[in-house]
Amino acid sequence: MKFVDAHIHLSDEEYSQCINEIIAEAKSSNIVALVSNSMNLETSITSLKLTEQYSETVYAALGIHPWNVNALSGTELQQTLELISKQRQNKALIAIGEIGLDQKYANMWDKQLMVFDEMLHLAEELDLPVIIHSRGTTTKIVEMLPSYNLKKVLLHWFSNPISALEKVVEDGYYITEGPPVAYSNGIREVVRKTPLTNLLTETDGPVRFFKQPFNGKRTTPAFIPTVVKAIAEIKNMDVAEVAEQIIKNFEEFFGVKLN
Ligand SMILES: [Zn+2]
Repeated sequence: MKFVDAHIHLSDEEYSQCINEIIAEAKSSNIVALVSNSMNLETSITSLKLTEQYSETVYAALGIHPWNVNALSGTELQQTLELISKQRQNKALIAIGEIGLDQKYANMWDKQLMVFDEMLHLAEELDLPVIIHSRGTTTKIVEMLPSYNLKKVLLHWFSNPISALEKVVEDGYYITEGPPVAYSNGIREVVRKTPLTNLLTETDGPVRFFKQPFNGKRTTPAFIPTVVKAIAEIKNMDVAEVAEQIIKNFEEFFGVKLN
């Protein structure tokens, strides 16, 4: 069986000292693709470096996360947009992400909207898929997106409102789910209601998961087989069949062929 981690922050400081170990662990767990999602200019540059260093398995999603909009230096937004444009021919660049809106940081709402809009326009222009953070903002985002001409949309760690899920699926969007699928009733309900063809797996590492079976251990892509097993149980399907469909979804969503 082969697996994918479509959303991990490999460029995070926390992984910098143990990146060889993380990649080796991923390989020995049959994780054939990792998408290094970025938070700002600096982590976008690091993500690109990681795709060179670990070209067999690491792909990059570049962008500015809503949490980072206030900390942007004067030219950082422009520099990030230019970096992404310049890398368009780089086969390792497969998405714009992590971008989005977060209700928790409502005090920087206008700036979040401005940066998100810039990133969505760039995704349109470059014809790249987008990976979206939508905490507390799913309804608003789902309303906004049809006014852009986007190639493909992925809502990462989709949790609520469950009532928005129907439209998400109808619009052909994908969602990613990760370790909480093993213990959260809410996330299990989301997985139950999402067609397998719209689903991808993630860890969102280095975010830690304190419930069983993860118990606050350092998050690694090696958690993915547990996630796939939990999805198979919910869907009442064979694990190998689920793993195979998720590989297909990854290839379809990002437009890459995996080995
Ligand atoms: Zn993330």
